[in-house]
Amino acid sequence: MTIASSFAASESMTDDWHQTLAHAVRDPDELIELLGLPDNFREPAHRTARLFPLMVPREYVARMEYGNTRDPLLLQVLPLGVEEHDVEGFDADAVGDGASRRAPGLLHKYAGRALLIATGACAIHCRYCFRRHYPYSDEPRRMADWEPAFEVLETDETIHEVILSGGDPLMLTDQRLSEIVSRLESIPHLTRLRIHSRLPIVLPERVTESLLDILLSNRLTPIMVVHANHPRELEGTCAAALRRLVRSGITVLNQAVLLRGVNDSADVLTDLSERLINLGVVPYYLHQLDRVSGTAHFEVSKETGRELIAKLRERLPGFAVPQYVQELPGELNKTPLT
Ligand SMILES: *Cc1c(COP(=O)(O)O)cnc(C)c1O
Ligand code: SF4
Repeated sequence: MTIASSFAASESMTDDWHQTLAHAVRDPDELIELLGLPDNFREPAHRTARLFPLMVPREYVARMEYGNTRDPLLLQVLPLGVEEHDVEGFDADAVGDGASRRAPGLLHKYAGRALLIATGACAIHCRYCFRRHYPYSDEPRRMADWEPAFEVLETDETIHEVILSGGDPLMLTDQRLSEIVSRLESIPHLTRLRIHSRLPIVLPERVTESLLDILLSNRLTPIMVVHANHPRELEGTCAAALRRLVRSGITVLNQAVLLRGVNDSADVLTDLSERLINLGVVPYYLHQLDRVSGTAHFEVSKETGRELIAKLRERLPGFAVPQYVQELPGELNKTPLT
């Protein structure tokens, strides 16, 4: 029995996540019907879904409230007419990703760690996504295409941690993921492997026994950074998936984005932190929205953000208060806002 399976054997562990993904909701009409939303949502949803397609797994839709047009989970995925508004200060590459590209698929901005755009695919399309305009089609697909990135990692001994990001790296097959992990493991100065993924939240089935095996059966220390913005996202099978990760021995952190109408309230953020901590997941970052075109309606002022963090400090243990940060182009780290 493997390390992972000794923890996981009692859980239901199927490899059906590809199937579940294939059945994700992609048609705005279907989402509107499933949730009993008014007909006047249809036309703008179709229009803006052409800019950035709708995609949401059914298990995530199941956590939304029927008939609620302001449901905090729905707002994260429903294409709205307001996305078409051009707002000054909101651009295609708000975080300066383009300038930090050191090889195809490799971004290096910060000391000691580098990020691989492992895939452009995601299981969910978040309307506020900072990479919604990222030129994914320029990035590597086949293993051989990754070699230039691996070679940069090999020659730069200052890098100790590789972050698999995207898109969502857990959209890769186990086969591809384990090939990448093995290649990284062969680079002596690398010590940590970090995975940035929203799949444990939106497609909890992805946390399979064989995934845990891949993450645990190599010498790199694994860290998983998941992405949940609202406590209701942690319901259903998600809670069990997070427990599987935590109990397997992987350090699990959460990053959230501060979003108007979704989590811009001290009660919601407190509840999010409480639930995460109770599952063994540490709140890591609360991100100020990156100013990417089409997302202006989600923006919360930094002043409000600071007030919210101050309230969290009054209500929660210190370790349950995320760092409120912003990513500014050219900075050597995410910039703290408090
Ligand atoms: C956000 C980010 C990281 C990770 O930053 P941490 O503060 O270590 O979480 C690394 N590389 C890039 C390019 C990033 O955008
Ligand atoms: S899962 Fe992450 S990368 Fe994918 S759309 Fe959502 S925020 Fe963007």
